[in-house]
Amino acid sequence: MQNLDQLKQDLIETGRWIDSRHWCPATSGNLSAWIDAEQFLITVSGKGKGELTPADLMIVDAGGNPVNTQLRPSAETLLHSLIYSRFPDARYVFHTHSVYGTIMSRAIWSGQLVFRNYELQKAFSGIDTHDVEMKVPVFGNSQDMVALAKEVEQHFDSADACHAFILAGHGVYTWGKTAREARRHVEAMEFLLECEYKSCLLLK
Ligand SMILES: [Zn+2]
Repeated sequence: MQNLDQLKQDLIETGRWIDSRHWCPATSGNLSAWIDAEQFLITVSGKGKGELTPADLMIVDAGGNPVNTQLRPSAETLLHSLIYSRFPDARYVFHTHSVYGTIMSRAIWSGQLVFRNYELQKAFSGIDTHDVEMKVPVFGNSQDMVALAKEVEQHFDSADACHAFILAGHGVYTWGKTAREARRHVEAMEFLLECEYKSCLLLK
């Protein structure tokens, strides 16, 4: 089991960092940290990520149900559950509603974004060269989290893990083995999305 106070501190610091980059506007997004195989810590619904306190973090079980609290988890808690169960190395999951994640996924709606020849692809664990295609799946947005979680799970049954996926017109899910690694993945994903967007402008 992880040290709960340390996990809370990691999420609070990550929230401040993400807020400073404007990647979770208007109380959107959610951040979580794995405690053990039975439970994880996640931000409560409707709190600005730049002003989180320990009271804004709640424990849920592996299925995303609240543990010993009246607090309400985000509807998207189920997707965090899915990531922890599908990727056993995942210890932190960060979900943002960034501008570039929203714009670029609206151009795709369903399918995948493919990044090629970016040096910064190497910021993702498991990628050691720019000379590979990095495929990030894009799923249609839905308010039916059960159906959405099933769609995401089925996709990763037959596709390589890339430490990220995107919900179209909604936002980005990114994860990692440590808070530092997950933050690196968030930042690299944002960089790649911004580059792709600005490349589209250049080509017009
Ligand atoms: Zn969201």
